[in-house]
Formats: sequence, structure tokens, C-alpha cells
Amino acid sequence: MRIVIVSNRLPVSITKDKKNNNKFQKSAGGLVTSIGAYTEKMTELSYAWVGWPGINTTTKSEQEEITSSLETIHCYPVFLTEKEMDKFYLGFCNRTIWPLFHYFPTIASFEKEHYDIYKSVNLKFAKALNNIIDPKEDIVWVHDYHLMLLPDLIRQNFSDVPIGFFLHIPFPAYEVFQLLPSKWRIEILEGLLGADLIGFHTHEYTDNFLRATLRFLGLENHFGVINNKGRLTKVGTHPISIDYLKFNKTANSISVALKAGEIKNQFNNKKILFSVDRLDYTKGIINRLLGFEYFLDQYPDWRERITLIIVVVPSRTGVYHYQQMKKQIDETIGRINGKLSTVEWNPIVYKFGSLDFEDLAAFYSASDIMLVTPLRDGMNLVAKEYVASRVNKDGMLILSEMAGSAKELLEALIINPNSIEEIGEAIKTALDMPKDKEAQIIESMQNRISNHNVFRWVSDYLNELNKITLSQKQLE
Ligand code: UDP
Repeated sequence: MRIVIVSNRLPVSITKDKKNNNKFQKSAGGLVTSIGAYTEKMTELSYAWVGWPGINTTTKSEQEEITSSLETIHCYPVFLTEKEMDKFYLGFCNRTIWPLFHYFPTIASFEKEHYDIYKSVNLKFAKALNNIIDPKEDIVWVHDYHLMLLPDLIRQNFSDVPIGFFLHIPFPAYEVFQLLPSKWRIEILEGLLGADLIGFHTHEYTDNFLRATLRFLGLENHFGVINNKGRLTKVGTHPISIDYLKFNKTANSISVALKAGEIKNQFNNKKILFSVDRLDYTKGIINRLLGFEYFLDQYPDWRERITLIIVVVPSRTGVYHYQQMKKQIDETIGRINGKLSTVEWNPIVYKFGSLDFEDLAAFYSASDIMLVTPLRDGMNLVAKEYVASRVNKDGMLILSEMAGSAKELLEALIINPNSIEEIGEAIKTALDMPKDKEAQIIESMQNRISNHNVFRWVSDYLNELNKITLSQKQLE
């Protein structure tokens, strides 16, 4: 059996080195981290991964060269033109679906041309898959909001191949989904229903989807199973997770312990608050900074005894609202540091860039408190990674109730990210927390994440897909 994973991007990007040769680079982001962890360990299953290779090439010979080198690592590229990237990826995906599904309707745009190109790119993926899918051997697993029309397009060409779809972002409430023009929202729902199994991170997203299919398509469900003219689709909750042991073991390694020690020394053993996310207006970075400022204003005794290290990973830098967000972050950090810094202390240390895996693990290890404050987040893997990295069962996680992960990490200090006071007071609560209570909280969350790790996520999902395809066969 082979699993064909389809996502907007391949798990590797192709870039050019100084001599203009192609080189592979592992892509960043939650999906790649999770599925990559599984595919690396997959032994009894073979796999293929289909997606955009991260480079705009124009010449056929270059495309052929890239295709043949990617084939050696089971990757099949779908090449997109610059125009397609602009209207499909930056346009419909990141200016329409992303803001809308994260409850930012006022910054969502609704341009017909963007949607038309979204459709044509989904069709391009379907055509590419015609040459890749082997209906006797394969199961197909389509990922995320870039490819919501694809399940049905595949189904039109392969009536029996098992198709799974997983949405890595929230599925919004009916009233928000309704903001999409009628034709688009119906096509999106019908596109998704081409899958045998549609997975979401939380019960709320699953319920939202079921309500949308009832209201817009008139389709009832029976325990999450929709019967659409004899074709069954199961809609289920499958919260994504992490490779728990990888984080736990790395955090326990000598090299990471040394690095973490260096970080602590560098900050003179002051308390360290840490946060890391992609640059995104959904991540609540400004409120986090204001929450820290509130804390330092309310509890001035803590000044010079605590530092916030904030890492912001560049993302979607071609989209206007991301550029605005970067400017706002820079200004807010400058203002707070300008107001509170002393000769020996900067309250906020800021890096705009990414961290490699060991450095990230070292920061997770060195931090006394992790601040995760998204205004809306499908899951948020960083929260789980921090917990997994606490080998001494100390430290504390402050977590937004708007992150999917808050449904599982119930013991964390849960805050509403719109409340600067709640963020600031949670920092104080975390600092005052007795060690034995910290240990109890961290251990309980660790047990849950280590049981529900990324391998379990994939195997549970694939089992569920198998079950529904069997039910379909029995119905026929
Ligand atoms: N990450 C990374 N390099 C960095 C910072 C983060 O590879 O410098 C990873 C991090 O370990 C996590 C992922 O990026 O696995 C972010 O996933 P999350 O669900 O938190 O947010 P997303 O970026 O998918 O919205």
C-alpha cells in the first residue's frame, strides 16, 4: 500500500546555491514537521508526496531536472507560474480563506479572479495526480485550505480510491463561512465532500462544518457520517500532534543542555519568558507584548529580573497585512524597551528569523515560561513542543483559549488573548507557582501528548479512513 500525500508545498523547497545549482531545503511549518516525522519512520507503508516545489521555473529542461531529482525522495512537483502563486497562494489562500477562517473577516478580500485561479490550480493538482495515483495500491491524503476543491476533482477521475482530507486551520462558525459568496462556499463544501474522511483538529471545527453542510447543501449527518447521494463521507475530530520523544530526547541531550545553560548565563539567570511563532496577525504577538508591559507596570519589582525572548519567523512577507504586522511588532518592542530598559537590562530580546531544531529545543529548555497567545490558531504545535521539552517537569505554559491545543492542554494557564490584563496576570501566576504544582501540571500534559503523539494521529486517521471506505463498500 502507498500513501499519496498532497499539500500546497512539498516537504522540501528547491533553492539556488551560489553556483546556480539546485539545492533542497527542508520547509518550515506545522504540517511538514508532523507528517515529515511520520514519513521518516514509515516502514510498512511507502509514500509519495505531491506539491509545489518552492521555485518558479519557466524552462521545461529545468522542470525536468527538478522532477527527476525529487523523484529520488518520493516527491512529485506541481509547478506553478508566478501569476498562479500571486492569485492562488497570496491571493485566495492568504487574503481570503486564511483571514476568514481565522475570524478576521474585515481584512478578507473576495476577488473573483483569485477564486478562479484557486480553482484552476486545484485542477492542475488533479491533473498531476492522474499520472501519479495507482487506484489499486494508493490511498490519497489531501491537506489543508489550499486544496479544498481537490478531493472531489480526484473523485471524478478515481471512483474507488480512498481519499482523506485534513484541514489544519479552524473551520469557522456558519455565520463567518457564510461571508463567502454563495457559489464559492457551495463549491468548497462539495469539493471537500469528495473525500471519504474529512478531519478537523477540534469538535468545534467539526460541528461548524457539519452545520455548514446542513445549511448550505441540506445534508444531514448521522454520527458524523454524511450520505451524499449514496457516497459516504465521515467528518471527524483528529487533533494533530508532535513527535513527543524527539523533543523530549533532544531536550535531554548534552548538546542542548549546554546550549540551554549558555542561554541562561547570557541572561544572568534571570527568569526567561519565551515565545516563537511565524509572523502572522493571528498569533496575537502585539497583545503578548502589551501583556508583558502590563505585567512590568503592575509588578515593578520584577523589572531587571525577567526577560522576554521573542522569536518571529518571517512568513508571507509579500502580503500587505504581514508587512504591517512586522512594522507594528518592531515599533511596539522599540517603545517598550525605550520606556523600561536600563543600562544593564532590556525587557524584550527580539529575533526576526528562524531557529534550527537544536536551538529551538535549547530555548524551550532554558525558558521558565512559554507564552502562546494566538487570537485564533487551528492547533498550535509550539505549545505541545514546549511541554514535551520540559524534561525536569518544571516551567509553565500560558496558552490562549483560541488555540486548538487549549482543548487538550487543559492544565495550562489558559487566557483570553484579547485581555492584556489576563496575559499579564498569568505571567505573575506562573512566576508564583509552587514547584510541585508545576510538576503536576507539566507531567499531566506530557502524558497526554506522549500518548497522542503524531504517529498516533496518523495511524488513527488512516484507521478511520479505512473504516469509512469499508462502510462505503458494504453500502454498494
Ligand atoms: N518552527 C521551526 N523553526 C522555527 C520556529 C518554529 O521549524 O524557527 C516550527 C515549530 O517547531 C513548529 C512549527 O514550526 O513545529 C510551527 O507550528 P505551529 O502549529 O505552532 O504554527 P504554524 O506555523 O503551523 O501556524
